[in-house]
Amino acid sequence: MTPRELFLAAVQGRPTPRPAAGSATSIVTRDLMAEVGWSFPQAHLDPEAMAGLAQAGAEVLGFDNVMPLFSVWHESAALGCPVEWGSSERMPDCGQPPWTLGQEMRLPADLLLHPACQVPLQALSRLRRRCGDDAAVVGKVFGPWTLGYHLYGVEEFLVGTLLEPDAVRRSLACLKEVTVRFGLAQIDAGAEVLCLADHATRDLCSPLAYRDFLQEIHQELVERLPVPLVLHICGDTADRIPYIRQTGVACFHYDAKVPVAQARALAGEELALMGGTANIAVLRDGDEAAIRGDVAAKRQAGIQIIGPECAVPLDAPWLHLRALTTAVKAGS
Ligand SMILES: [Zn+2]
Repeated sequence: MTPRELFLAAVQGRPTPRPAAGSATSIVTRDLMAEVGWSFPQAHLDPEAMAGLAQAGAEVLGFDNVMPLFSVWHESAALGCPVEWGSSERMPDCGQPPWTLGQEMRLPADLLLHPACQVPLQALSRLRRRCGDDAAVVGKVFGPWTLGYHLYGVEEFLVGTLLEPDAVRRSLACLKEVTVRFGLAQIDAGAEVLCLADHATRDLCSPLAYRDFLQEIHQELVERLPVPLVLHICGDTADRIPYIRQTGVACFHYDAKVPVAQARALAGEELALMGGTANIAVLRDGDEAAIRGDVAAKRQAGIQIIGPECAVPLDAPWLHLRALTTAVKAGS
């Protein structure tokens, strides 16, 4: 199997000769940017820089996939969030959220023509042309829960789930169309798999809120986006994996806060698992023996795609990421 075939099989839980090495979130570190000469913020704003830095994930780090949307802000910027695109030292961030809960929502007809959407779309098509069989091309869209945080602010949105649940439902129904439109455009551009990141994290969303507000929407996204979806939610998600399992997503990108054996048991046979390696304790601060030990535990538990739990911290050494992919491929 080529790396691309292997990743595409693993993400769907099909048998593979080894686990895949992969990530649905950013693998960029400061020293990787210095190594390859493509850097933030240009790699958020210029398709060539974005594609070049993403391709380093396969060529330099040894992952079986590439994923060029390094930040969380592309579609939110196109919807009016005042995004400050950061630097090589800092991930992008956003100023005052532009929307108020309960106000009339209108999605711009030309949403996908906004540069914040066009840049990743063009990067994905370049990557699809260039990667061939060397890497699967993964896109990334944000679900309506995360978009709600971005557009209304986390606090207003979460208070709204308690005080104005109908307004929140109307917002989720509107915002999920952004997820679908950007997702379909990414598939057209060359994405073979989509990361669906929707931060229904335990400290901000109860398992029942996940079930009541989001489970059905995630099910609908599975039906409307015709590629395997990798749902990404950070934090301890053990109390909602049983609901996630019912959505039909192909794969769940999980955080090291869920112990690997528990994640495997909760996901069952039908939900593939990706990630789970702790960013700080293992990938940034661990040594190569710790990384090899972590990979061995993931293999033992039957994790299909081994890699970082979430966006890698910018101050992690890229050699640690290569140590991880080397261990995945070597079977150590
Ligand atoms: Zn995350």
